[in-house]
Amino acid sequence: MNLHEYQARGLLAARGVPITEGIVCATAEEARDAAERIGGPVVVKAQVLTGGRGKAGGVKLAADPAEAHRAAQAILGMSIRDLVVHRVLVVPAIDIKREIYLGCILDRAQCCLTIMASADGGMDIEDVAARTPERILRMTADPFLGIADYQARDLGFQLGFEVGMIRRFVPIVNGLFRTVLETDASLCEINPLVIDASDQFIALDAKLTVDDNALYRHPELEAMRDLEAEDPFERQARSEGINFVRLDGAVGCIVNGAGLAMATMDAVKLAGSSPANFMDVAGGARSERVAAALRIILSDPNVRSILINIFGGITRCDEVARGILRARDEVDVSVPMVVRLVGTNEADGRALLAAAGIEAQTTMSAAAEAAVRLASRP
Ligand code: GDP
Ligand code: MN
Repeated sequence: MNLHEYQARGLLAARGVPITEGIVCATAEEARDAAERIGGPVVVKAQVLTGGRGKAGGVKLAADPAEAHRAAQAILGMSIRDLVVHRVLVVPAIDIKREIYLGCILDRAQCCLTIMASADGGMDIEDVAARTPERILRMTADPFLGIADYQARDLGFQLGFEVGMIRRFVPIVNGLFRTVLETDASLCEINPLVIDASDQFIALDAKLTVDDNALYRHPELEAMRDLEAEDPFERQARSEGINFVRLDGAVGCIVNGAGLAMATMDAVKLAGSSPANFMDVAGGARSERVAAALRIILSDPNVRSILINIFGGITRCDEVARGILRARDEVDVSVPMVVRLVGTNEADGRALLAAAGIEAQTTMSAAAEAAVRLASRP
C-alpha cells in the first residue's frame, strides 16, 4: 500500500527528519487560505499515489495567496498517470542549494534493508539510475544492528558534505531507517532531500510503501488507505475477488490459481514477451468472473493479446469454456485471445470452444508462444 506524500511526511517528521509543516487542501479557496497562514512563497503539490508529479505540472511555486489559489485550481482535478488529483498540499517554498536523493528499500537480493543515496537527486533520478548506476550509493544495514552511524557518515563523505553537514546528515539517515523498520515499509524515499540557503537539510518530498502483508499489525497505517486514489481497476478486481497486479507488458493473462499465474508469466517471458498483469481469478471461472477479468485487462491500452490459462481441477473445463464464450459475448474483445484448457472434462470444453472458432491449446508453452506471436504482430 502506498501512502500520500503528506502522510509519509508525518511519519518521517515523527522520527526526526526535518520537514516543513504543510496544509492539506481540497479546494482552491482552502489553498489560498493556507498560503495566507504560511505567509511568503509556497509550493502547491498534487497529492496522488504516483511519482513524477513535478514533470506532469502537479507541483507549482506560488509567490502569494492569489497565485496559490490559481495553482490549486490548475492542479485539483487534473490527471497524473490516470490518477485524478483530489487534494493538494501547500508547503512553504524553500530556497534550494542542492538536491539529494535518499531512500531506504528492502533489497530482496541482499535480504537486507539498504540505504541508497545520490548526489544527483531531483526529478531525473530514474534516468540517473538507468544511465549512471554508479552514481547511486548503497549501504546495507545489518539485520540485527541496523544502520550504523559510521555508514551514514561514510555516505555523507561520498556525497561531498562538509563535516558540519555530515553531523546533521546522520540523524536523517537514522530517522529514515527507523521509519522503514517501524512501519514495515518496503520502500521509503526522500527525493529531493535539499540543502537550503542556510545549509540546513530539509526533506521536500516523501514516498512510503508499506508491505501489505504487515498491515494487520499497523491499524493506524491501514486507516490511511485512500480508496478513491487507488488504481480503479485494481480496486474493481479486489471487489470481484480477483487477485490482480498491473504490469507493463503486452500479454494480458487470465489464470486460475496464483502459482499457475506466476508460471504463466514466466512462460510469456520465455516466449519472448512480457505479461501485462498478474491475475488469479481464484478458483472457478464462471462467466461473470471471466467477463470482469476481460474488462479489467482490456482497460489497459498496452494489451495486444490475451492468454487464458485454466487448469480444471474441481472446476470443469466445459463450464469454463461456456464462461469464456458468454464473457466474450458480454465484453467487446478487441484483441486476439489464446486459451489453454486442461483437466476435468477438457475434451468437452475444447469442443465447445472449437465450435465457436477458438482453438484451445493443451500445453502452456504452446499457448504462451501463440499469445506472444499474436501480441507482436505489427
Ligand atoms: P515529484 O516530481 O512527484 O517527485 O515531486 P517533488 O515533491 O519531488 O517536486 C518536484 C520538484 O519540484 C523538486 O525536485 C524540486 O526541484 C521542486 N520543488 C519542490 N518543492 C520546492 C520548493 O520548496 N522550492 C523550490 N525551489 N523547488 C521545489
Ligand atoms: Mn520527488
